[in-house]
Amino acid sequence: MSDRPVVTRIAPSPTGYMHIGTARTALFNWLYAKRMGGKFLLRIEDTDRERSTLPAVQAIFDGMSWLGMTPDEEPVFQAARADRHVLAAQALLAKGRAYRDYMTAEELTAEREIARAEGRAVRSPWRDQDANFNDRPFVVRFKGPHEGETVIHDLVKGDVTFKNKDLDDLIILRTDGTPTYNLAVIVDDHEMGVTHVIRGDDHLNNAARQTLIYEALGWEVPIWAHLPMIHGPDGAKLSKRHGAQAVSEFDDMGYLPEAMRNYLARLGWGHGDDEIFSDEQAQAWFDVSDVVSAPARLDWAKLNHINNHYLRLADIDRLVSLTERVLKSRGEPPRDADAAILHRTIPLVRDGAKTLLELADAVMFALKQRPLALPEKVVGMLTDETRGRLTRLRETLAGQADWDVSALEAALRGFAESEGVGLGKIGPALRGVLSGGAPAPDLAGALVSLGKAESLGRLDDALSPAA
Ligand code: GLU
Repeated sequence: MSDRPVVTRIAPSPTGYMHIGTARTALFNWLYAKRMGGKFLLRIEDTDRERSTLPAVQAIFDGMSWLGMTPDEEPVFQAARADRHVLAAQALLAKGRAYRDYMTAEELTAEREIARAEGRAVRSPWRDQDANFNDRPFVVRFKGPHEGETVIHDLVKGDVTFKNKDLDDLIILRTDGTPTYNLAVIVDDHEMGVTHVIRGDDHLNNAARQTLIYEALGWEVPIWAHLPMIHGPDGAKLSKRHGAQAVSEFDDMGYLPEAMRNYLARLGWGHGDDEIFSDEQAQAWFDVSDVVSAPARLDWAKLNHINNHYLRLADIDRLVSLTERVLKSRGEPPRDADAAILHRTIPLVRDGAKTLLELADAVMFALKQRPLALPEKVVGMLTDETRGRLTRLRETLAGQADWDVSALEAALRGFAESEGVGLGKIGPALRGVLSGGAPAPDLAGALVSLGKAESLGRLDDALSPAA
């Protein structure tokens, strides 16, 4: 291998949502490029005109930008480069390393059946004829060797040997003259200067054929690294029933992109037992040859743990706007006054949240509008004795100047002492009145979240004769 600067790429086909496996492949390419001081590129493999869609291209752009992995150059669109691919096919024809194959569809079907029965690769009778008719449709096939072996020195899988006689001659140009994936990928990787092809191991077999085409073109073969799949928690292929597959679904479920990067990095790779690490650490440590070759399993508990870690680190302004986004998606658009409430509440509840959805659940109590509809259970707690106590507590709180957690904790303790009871006698009813029965932080936290006026107002509502 020459000492070309490292260039990696992600080359998704835009035929649906962006799969989480594609995100992990992108991450490993991105980390490796960073580690080596190289470049990370994006190529949209849109040669399948029927299955490629613009929304799917957009899903890839959105997924990459959400994940914070910016390619180092403008994305390349494969379909726009078809003339380059055709030139390479012509070069192979000129070198005698490709041929026009005039087999009809029926002949091909028959040959396939015979080849299957004989346990050999499909062979065309046109391979050694060098024929060139003007009036007959043909495909162009690569003329691969029948003898010898092709060895893939894969950084993840190790050496994988393919017998050349088992590899059929790949179609490189279709009957309509358009290039196929296996040709396009080679020409594009070569011309984009890609040194390391890091991709899913469903492409391992292609690597053998692609190696032969690189060699026939006289081009340097890239270094291969074929990554194992991501499986569901039960070890089966990741599917809908495992909860999520698309990058956008993880966003919708309230995972932070930095948590996804950290978690995805650990799917198939790791740095000792380190569970949490920063992008800088991952970029300094990541080596594609340390990726394990067995499939990785999605583990929701681990992802939740990591997400909780990053929720606790995140900037509050950012969490406020992300929580507002969740509220909007639930049809509960936040009012202007809510931002201040969220600012006070989020720091008090985020430790217990695994996702942004849980964070949104945890702030709901503070966003309710007065008067709160108190559940039966809370109403039942409001005996005359309790009402009397809460009325006296209201006065204490009204005179409270410092409205922070420690001052309020001290005030509540002092009040309970003056009443000659434990806090347990006051807590549940106070909490119910302040939260309307919704989940809420501890008492002092709930009072801080609501602010003084709202706290006193909620007490007044509950203690008014009509309540
Ligand atoms: N377009 C191919 C895919 O989405 C990837 C090809 C490659 O990475 O070489 O599976």
